[in-house]
Amino acid sequence: MQCPFCGANDTKVVDSRLVAEGQQVRRRRECVSCNERFTTFESAELLMPRVIKADGTREPFDEDKLRAGIHRALEKRPVSIEELEASISRIKHRLRATGERELPSRELGEAVMAELRRLDEVAYVRFASVYRSFQDINEFKEEIDRLSAGHNSNNGN
Ligand SMILES: [Zn+2]
Repeated sequence: MQCPFCGANDTKVVDSRLVAEGQQVRRRRECVSCNERFTTFESAELLMPRVIKADGTREPFDEDKLRAGIHRALEKRPVSIEELEASISRIKHRLRATGERELPSRELGEAVMAELRRLDEVAYVRFASVYRSFQDINEFKEEIDRLSAGHNSNNGN
């Protein structure tokens, strides 16, 4: 965080608290160079857990991507933007409330499905079918990986 007074790049946080019902984090910072203090209000998205993808890679929580996915599921459905935004807030709250710094993408998917189920049945089915088949593809890939590694754990009949 750059100091707005002298432009130094090194500032330290002297106080940090959640405000606006947990939507923002208010930070008191002090510049290490000129000792001036200033306050920042940062989006609580910074506090969102990172998402662990099926292949084990991590990525930052992406609210725009989440919104786009829900929008797609709700296309031409009688659900208002307000309801959609309230759902996104609840999903974010639910993920933050876990207190985890990283969460499997599966948990994000489950949270979205829980919200869509109460918003709109059609949107829920749309999302679930896309999401579930995506999961299946990953399971398929995992099985292929297992086979090529020479550990054939055949659970079938
Ligand atoms: Zn400074």
